[in-house]
Amino acid sequence: MDNCIFCKIINRELPSTIQYEDDRVMAFNDINQEAPIHVLIVPKVHIQSVNDIDETNADYLKDIHLAAKKIAQKLGVSEKGYRLINNCGESAGQTVPHLHYHLLAGVDMGTKLI
Ligand code: AMP
Ligand code: ZN
Repeated sequence: MDNCIFCKIINRELPSTIQYEDDRVMAFNDINQEAPIHVLIVPKVHIQSVNDIDETNADYLKDIHLAAKKIAQKLGVSEKGYRLINNCGESAGQTVPHLHYHLLAGVDMGTKLI
């Protein structure tokens, strides 16, 4: 997808600090770290948001979750805990229209979601 910053990161047209990559997903540090660990996990195909998930591409959700587990293990937060967040659409604060999950860890986030 032209002009999508996450597609450009996937294609190495923009720099990023890659934490994990396989043939289906990539994970890289968020440029604006909101926690000591803040990684974005994205599919390597352009899917705009959860609204665009269907039977043909839903396997990416599995891949993203398997990647999240591996990244948490690699970064040493599996046991202590981490938060996986998806923002879908404007009201939720989605600013980049390429499906992504925030993996946040390294701080006590408490029980409140908003
Ligand atoms: P969201 O608000 O859920 O759409 O999250 C988009 C995230 O992408 C934000 O947390 C931004 O800080 C992050 N972001 C934007 N541009 C880049 C970039 N070039 N590299 C890494 N993260 C980025
Ligand atoms: Zn994209």
